[in-house]
Amino acid sequence: MSDNDNNRDRSEECSGPHSLICYEPAREIIDSSKLTDYQTCPRKFFFAHILGWRPSGSNIHLTFGTAWHKAKEHLRWALHLEGNYSPLALQGAFKHFMAAYSVGYPEPRSWNDNATKSPISAYRGLVQYVAKYKRDKFKVVFTEVAGTVPINNDGDHIWFKIDSLVEEKDKGYVIYDDKTSSSDYALQEKFGMSFQFGTYIHAIKCYLGLSERMGHLAGVVADVVTFRTAPYNKLLKSGKYSSVVNGKGHTFNRIPIIKNSAQINRWGNEANSVVQDMKRDKLALLEEDPSDLNMRAYQCRTTSCSDYGGCPYYNLCWQAKNPMKMVEELGTTAPVGFERSFWNPEEDARDSRTWMEL
Ligand code: SF4
Repeated sequence: MSDNDNNRDRSEECSGPHSLICYEPAREIIDSSKLTDYQTCPRKFFFAHILGWRPSGSNIHLTFGTAWHKAKEHLRWALHLEGNYSPLALQGAFKHFMAAYSVGYPEPRSWNDNATKSPISAYRGLVQYVAKYKRDKFKVVFTEVAGTVPINNDGDHIWFKIDSLVEEKDKGYVIYDDKTSSSDYALQEKFGMSFQFGTYIHAIKCYLGLSERMGHLAGVVADVVTFRTAPYNKLLKSGKYSSVVNGKGHTFNRIPIIKNSAQINRWGNEANSVVQDMKRDKLALLEEDPSDLNMRAYQCRTTSCSDYGGCPYYNLCWQAKNPMKMVEELGTTAPVGFERSFWNPEEDARDSRTWMEL
């Protein structure tokens, strides 16, 4: 039976509002960000990844983060080939930044609206980065590697995309992951327990175990840059200028994360537990009735509503309407302020330079 036949047969099992939530291939593909979204709030996961309702317009954090990663990737290869971060490498990095940034923000007039996440802020960050880390010495093994890795013996896989794997003298292999932030608060706690980094360590350990490469994985480095507005001189009431600093300017932190086998084991248990919960919710969804007052599947986790400046789905939850009723009313469209699109880690992986199936 072909895939199309399969899909047709399965789609016939769905009717009414359920037909809108049954078949989207992207829903079946799991990566760390989806698992983390589910852990944050199952209802948020439902809106974002089952219904595909995403806030309309460009996302400055995503655009800036992607562009920053492209710039850093260029710098790493320059270091690998030339042995240092040369002025030419810096210019090349900024060119890569702009190529990616312009995709989300093609209109230069809008750039200054993004304050700390503008091209000028990125350029300042690159200049400071190469000055701060001028003593870096490593060899790049690969950048942008994507793939899948099993998390159990039942056929469940998780997708990953790693920014860089490098080899450092006296350390071994190190995964570098580029992060942009707006605060230095609790970075060690935030990244030390990060689910994403557990996935990376598991994937690279599998890769090193299966490949002919010698050496060991030292861990992950979260290469974090906190972007802030530049320090500036402020005119005081007295008429004098004060070198008042609006924030501290950009700051740079490299957070090393090393996980032993017990910690990786705990990560595996967590991954499996979340995947089982997701499967239970998916089945429970088929039993939902739009005419019910509430939806039981994908429960709200209201302790997460204020995370990251406020959940984009807050107004939908606040109405206390059964989301299946909204699905019934809206069909394949999304509510005002949202558009329908699905995050598909497999499509993203196709753009990667290296592919691993572990
Ligand atoms: S508003 Fe709160 S309960 Fe609703 S989806 Fe967001 S985090 Fe979950």
